Amino acid sequence: MPKFYITTPIFYPNANLHIGHAYTTTVADILARYHRLNGDKTYFLTGSDENTEKVVRSAKSVGEDTKKYLDDIVSNFKDLFAKLEISYDQFIRTSDEENHYPGVIELWKRIADSGDLEKRSYSGLYCVGHESFITEKDLVDGKCPDHNETPQFLEEENWFFKLSKYTELIKEKIKSGEFRIMPETRRNEILAQLDRGLEDISFSRPANKVSVGIPVPGDPSQKIYVWCDALTNYISALGFGRKDGSLFKEFWPADVQIIGKDILRFHAAIWPAMLLSAGLPLPKTLLVHGFITSGGKKMSKSLGNVIDPMELVEEYGAEAVRYFLARHISPFEDGDITRESFKEAYNANLANGLGNLVSRIMKMAEQNQVKSKKLKVESDNGYDKAISEYDLKTASDLIWQMIAGLDEKIQKDQPFKLIKTDKEKGKAVIGELVSGLSNVAELLAPFMPETAKEIQKLIKENKMPGKPLFPRKD
Ligand SMILES: [Zn+2]
Repeated sequence: MPKFYITTPIFYPNANLHIGHAYTTTVADILARYHRLNGDKTYFLTGSDENTEKVVRSAKSVGEDTKKYLDDIVSNFKDLFAKLEISYDQFIRTSDEENHYPGVIELWKRIADSGDLEKRSYSGLYCVGHESFITEKDLVDGKCPDHNETPQFLEEENWFFKLSKYTELIKEKIKSGEFRIMPETRRNEILAQLDRGLEDISFSRPANKVSVGIPVPGDPSQKIYVWCDALTNYISALGFGRKDGSLFKEFWPADVQIIGKDILRFHAAIWPAMLLSAGLPLPKTLLVHGFITSGGKKMSKSLGNVIDPMELVEEYGAEAVRYFLARHISPFEDGDITRESFKEAYNANLANGLGNLVSRIMKMAEQNQVKSKKLKVESDNGYDKAISEYDLKTASDLIWQMIAGLDEKIQKDQPFKLIKTDKEKGKAVIGELVSGLSNVAELLAPFMPETAKEIQKLIKENKMPGKPLFPRKD
């Protein structure tokens, strides 16, 4: 049985999730559901990145104990995911000493055994907001422009990872397609970075300067640094470094890791270098999506254009939100969403499109006692190919082409009239429409699981819906 392992990044619990996080996770969920329905052994991982100073500071700023603060935010994450019908198999929390720590420690040891860790003295400007050193030329008026903070001058000992050593090897793996970066624009972006060369990076900080983190094996004076810790979640969650590593054996390497373009370098350079150093296989594909703007502008409180995924779910339902994210945001480029564009897409394609079609066909089927004959979905309409290329937009476009095709068939064959003059013929046409609808439901299942189920139930019971599937919004 083929296996399919898919991951999202682990999210920072220093605020609630925004539409970009909802997007990443929904795309992952659609792909996971598709593979499960296909009979593939599927594992879907998401989680939260908790061993960071940012989190400690956020907790402090609201006067809360870090653990309680984390638990509350993680429960908000899980609440949103439940509402969005996200079917993850595991939610990994990097503060989980039992499940996450052993993997990080094992990976560190392997990298150390390869001779790729070295203690060096380091000095520079450190931005707490970034949780990294930044350079003088990044500053505006002496402050980090992203965090509006004056960085601290730090001089300290760190364990350094010899990232530079892996530059050529990673380039080769990307170029040969063994480590596939999608889309092409991101692949070229990282190849250009690799051409400029990679610098060795700090993998630890003095234990007395950070309040959280996993102690460096064999050197308790140091704690493992954010990225080395966080990236490892993709294998620690599978039991890497633990006694029972059966999930790791079964599912690693990941078939696809989904990320946003802001964390490309970490996932396309640092992460593969860590794996290569440890003698582990690289993920097969890295799928890099863009940012989501609103009205062409970055979402911000001051512009008042923030689209909260939770609010959308409450107003329109999860299925509508999943629909919009899959079909109206490209997985390969930046996307845009406004309240207006959402409502327009909802009314045109769900209320009038799919919802109306289900009502019309099932009304005729119920009134005329027409049972559907199960027809096989045409397998060569490009749907499977689109999904295998992670192109959810094209795959969902194809479903809506089928919907439009069924609408046309009703227009052309007029079964509601035909049934009065030629009952046999009329019934045959309605039967074909019901079969077509059944095919739509089948292809819709990974995207809109509840709607697909509802349509299949109506077909089975030969009933029209008691109320519209998607009531029009004004
Ligand atoms: Zn900063």
